[in-house]
Amino acid sequence: MAYENNVSNFTWYPWLNNQYKKIINFYNKNKHNAIIIYNSINDNSNNLLCYAVSRRLICQNSNYYKSCNTCSNCILMSNNNYPYYYKLNYLTLNIQKIRDIIVDINKLSFKQVKVIHITNIEKLTYQTISTLLKIIEYPPSMTYFILSCNNISIVPMTIRSRCICWNMQIPNENYSIKWLKTVIHNKEIILRTSLRICNGSPINAILLLKSKLWNSRYILLNQINNALLKDDMLLLLPILNSSKNEIIYLLITFISDIIKLMKNTSESFLVNLDSINKIKSFLYINNIYKIYKLWSNLINCWYYLNYKNNINRELLILHLLVNW
Ligand SMILES: [Zn+2]
Repeated sequence: MAYENNVSNFTWYPWLNNQYKKIINFYNKNKHNAIIIYNSINDNSNNLLCYAVSRRLICQNSNYYKSCNTCSNCILMSNNNYPYYYKLNYLTLNIQKIRDIIVDINKLSFKQVKVIHITNIEKLTYQTISTLLKIIEYPPSMTYFILSCNNISIVPMTIRSRCICWNMQIPNENYSIKWLKTVIHNKEIILRTSLRICNGSPINAILLLKSKLWNSRYILLNQINNALLKDDMLLLLPILNSSKNEIIYLLITFISDIIKLMKNTSESFLVNLDSINKIKSFLYINNIYKIYKLWSNLINCWYYLNYKNNINRELLILHLLVNW
């Protein structure tokens, strides 16, 4: 049986070193008993770290932190061919798949190292979570469960109570800016803005700056001005409908910044540092109740778009704007 593995270009980042060492120390002390949920709002770093930890666990001649890169297991992992590394995505994972894997694993020698890496466990169905629970209560020998998520608060307590939660830390902002300057040429204020929008993830900051969404962000900012001026949020409909879901997140950051300025927060705490003057021009509204309501509705909308299936996106956004 083949399972997907998205980490084909294994590039390491310096800010992951410390966390990686702490995690390996933890495994070395706790041997095979720990089932860890890696919680991070940034997918890229999380997946990379989970993959590196998996490689180290699977290596037959590891030297404390380091995988040897020469044993047969390391070579198979390098070629994405190690048969007992199961990387599973919430979109394709179901009860039958979990059962099939466990049947496979139970046929193996108890000395064989197995790693089951499941991403976005907060998005698994109730039935899949129940099946997973039965397995992790009595895990097969030499089997590591690496569970990752973006939002630990909505992972069911039944799972959380049986695992150790590892909160991934983001690198220091100034450190990240210094690193970003070595890989992408842009003004510092732009880099800092992108970094803050991406919750401190330097990798995501680069991806955002290179995406179409970055231009849509400026269009959105102008449209907010129009919509607030005319008290008609429906003017935002074309830009919200024609962009990815992340445009809703960008709108949340703008509205959050307006609220911060209304509360006389220092400008240095804003997210959209490159657009402070524009955001300041929105302050004439001076109706904090209305802005709070929009902010709260936007957060609900963002939640539904991310965590609920079969949502009519257009209607949801329309409902949001009509209720302004
Ligand atoms: Zn090795």
